Amino acid sequence: MSVRRPYHLQTRNSALDSIADPVERAIESLRLEWRAGFVGHEVRRTAIPAVRSLVRLAASGQAETELADISRRLNDYFDLTIDARKSLLAELASRLEALKPMLRVPTGELAQIGKLNEAVAPGRARSRPPSEDEVTPTPRAPRAAIRPMDPGLPVSELPEVGPARAKLLEKLGITTLEDLVRFAPRKYIDYSNTIRIGEAVLLRSGEDVTIRGTLISIESLRGKKTSRVEAKLDDGTGWIRIVWFNNYLGRQLREGDQIAVSGAIESGYGRPSINNPEWERLGGDGLSTGRLIPVYPLTQGLTQKTMRRLTRVALDATRTTLPDFIPESLLRQEELPALHQAYEWLHYPAHQVGLDRAKRRLAFSEMLLLQLGLSQRRLGREAGEAFRFEVRSDDLERFESALPFRFTGAQDRVVGEITSDLQRGFPMARLLQGDVGSGKTAVAAAACWLALRNGLQSAVLAPTEILAEQHAVNFAKLFTGLPEAERPQIGLLTGSTRAKARRELLADLVHGEINILVGTHAVIQPDVIFHNLALSVIDEQHRFGVRQRESLPGKTSGAQPHVLSMSATPIPRTLSAVVHGDLEVSIIDELPPGRMPIDTRFYLGDDRETAYALIRQEVAKGRQVFVICPLVEESDTIDAKAAVAEAQRLKDEVFPDLRIDVLHGRMTGKDKDRIMAEFRDRQADILVSTSVIEVGIDIPNATVMMIEGADRFGLAQLHQFRGRVGRGGAQSYCLLLSDDPSIQATKRLNLMVETNNGFVLAEKDLEFRGPGDFLGTRQSGLPEMPWLTEQFDTRLFDAARAAAERLLQTDRELKQPEHARLRERFARFWADRGGMQTA
Ligand code: ADP
Ligand code: MG
Repeated sequence: MSVRRPYHLQTRNSALDSIADPVERAIESLRLEWRAGFVGHEVRRTAIPAVRSLVRLAASGQAETELADISRRLNDYFDLTIDARKSLLAELASRLEALKPMLRVPTGELAQIGKLNEAVAPGRARSRPPSEDEVTPTPRAPRAAIRPMDPGLPVSELPEVGPARAKLLEKLGITTLEDLVRFAPRKYIDYSNTIRIGEAVLLRSGEDVTIRGTLISIESLRGKKTSRVEAKLDDGTGWIRIVWFNNYLGRQLREGDQIAVSGAIESGYGRPSINNPEWERLGGDGLSTGRLIPVYPLTQGLTQKTMRRLTRVALDATRTTLPDFIPESLLRQEELPALHQAYEWLHYPAHQVGLDRAKRRLAFSEMLLLQLGLSQRRLGREAGEAFRFEVRSDDLERFESALPFRFTGAQDRVVGEITSDLQRGFPMARLLQGDVGSGKTAVAAAACWLALRNGLQSAVLAPTEILAEQHAVNFAKLFTGLPEAERPQIGLLTGSTRAKARRELLADLVHGEINILVGTHAVIQPDVIFHNLALSVIDEQHRFGVRQRESLPGKTSGAQPHVLSMSATPIPRTLSAVVHGDLEVSIIDELPPGRMPIDTRFYLGDDRETAYALIRQEVAKGRQVFVICPLVEESDTIDAKAAVAEAQRLKDEVFPDLRIDVLHGRMTGKDKDRIMAEFRDRQADILVSTSVIEVGIDIPNATVMMIEGADRFGLAQLHQFRGRVGRGGAQSYCLLLSDDPSIQATKRLNLMVETNNGFVLAEKDLEFRGPGDFLGTRQSGLPEMPWLTEQFDTRLFDAARAAAERLLQTDRELKQPEHARLRERFARFWADRGGMQTA
């Protein structure tokens, strides 16, 4: 049964032609598409031309950029699923709405601001444009009854919160009123933005819908273990089964009640249903009037209704007492709402625009606090003291001519950047980014060579023992072309270095007889004392926490070492300033000549056998294979289990004749190193691993990297995995297996086939998956920044950076009284991150 009516046939011309305001006309064209059922017709016919026509009205470059982006997104529309189309339309409508003040719209009567949701309620009268100060509160006690309370007070001070409820709230991390105010809804429901039930039942399982109708039956059922309430909701276009596994509802609802529900369609066998949906009674309490209703993360024993009441009360009680830590002048300048206003809009937005502004404000706060920290750190470093290297013109040439190869153009450029850093009197903090195999180690060796020429020591840190060993060997190799007397003395210090050897090593180190000390965390020990450490090289820097980066060896007589970090993880250019805002960044974007490209192939589900056949063929040639297990979730334990199970399955069902080993994150560092060493020594044909393999030693004999569930990983990470093979001279393969046939996933994985450039892939990740992959705390070592992660916006970020610089120029330590709140908030933001503050 289809209830879609060809609305566009009836309404297009009259609907669009009667609208004078061109922005409104563009928005209306999106509505037409919505009404027509997301088939794409209206986007092509009306929306794209309407948006294009706006470009000439742009009053600023910013507006132009935004319009260009909206245009681009519209062009992608045809590749999206229905769900994604829907949210894209909603997003673009609100972005167009927000653009209005930035366009030179011909004056005259502006059309009323409507909402997308009117598309599905065509009969409803248009409402007055919601003003941003207008906040329709949710269930609440009369405001007069609320007395102002300090945001730091415990929630139990609220009459609504007794000891039992306080315990439940604590489980959600809420102990104070401020916690309540800052507790973010996980989503919003727009009960006025509904689809017809007849349409809903046709949707795919898992789609989120909001529908309204009349309960035509409701009954409580008692099962053996559970009891539930089953109802039928009908809106004249069809009915759908609603199930709540909570009997208490049975007493609240009756046949004939009109309600709206919001939840995911489940259509396994038989008739589709919606289980445990959010619901609201229609009419009456003002809840179903088209405002966005917050939906909170909950814990058992708390309901949405309770949480809404609590956030409402907390917002009211702190209206005048919640201090804003961003100076008012700055808010005005950036046109951002004050803190309390932002929280009000975060919980109870009158409309999407208000919600967006709230999120921008909260993201801006995080950006500012982040930038203050990074800038302070940079300023502190620049005020510090380091060895000023003297570099003679032929120093580098001597090193280079002793290498078995010539530097690539990119390596030359980067060596130049490092050399000029080392000649300044303050510590270098440079990040060297480049794909696996791009020749970072050789560049680092050149820097260590310059230290040696100055009679100074270097340290090289690697995240694992086996990598440290590999580095020690590789460093030594890079210097073998030099006359013996000029080669550096290289020492290796790891957790396994025996006591006696360690004693001797430390003695040599302190007397300056070791020039380069390579090692693991073992190098960062109080009793490891250098004679004159001038340079620290850190490989795979993201594997070291900020704390460790801070406590690097050095502190020799006031002078701090220069720090060169290396990473093979590409970061999109726009995010580089966020993640590495305190560092200078050098990029090696060129591979040494003569590398054989890795043959990347992409298989959907059932093609697994083809991939297995290739594995068999390579093993028959004496080659080795990596198999990466799908990422189950952010849990090492579960991922470890999955890897062990997959290894067993391959052993039992697929490759009974091959030697299979397992590597996962629950193993100790020692065990991981042992497994890797065994694999290197060819004691297994296949190594099944979780993503811990991402960083590792070279196994030149491994020629196949097979990745199960490739669609679950970011492209940058897949690229990282791919870099594990192709280290020898032989043709290597990267096999991507995926069970997700969607256009989106296919398109993404095909990019892996098409390009070998890590930076391109990182940019695509950002586009497809957002900034979460790069800003996630685990990798970045940065404070948690949920809003920034959700809302990353380059323009806003640049503004925050400029603002931070300005603030620190006049008040370097944030000591001025008008910055007291900012300083306090700043300290909290960076707390537990260790040593980021110099204040
Ligand atoms: P990375 O540390 O960036 O992964 P490496 O420095 O280990 O890369 O280099 C990978 C391999 O390429 C090494 O064997 C190294 O000796 C070699 N190599 C480095 N630079 C060049 C170059 N310019 N030309 C040829 N081979 C190079
Ligand atoms: Mg390397």
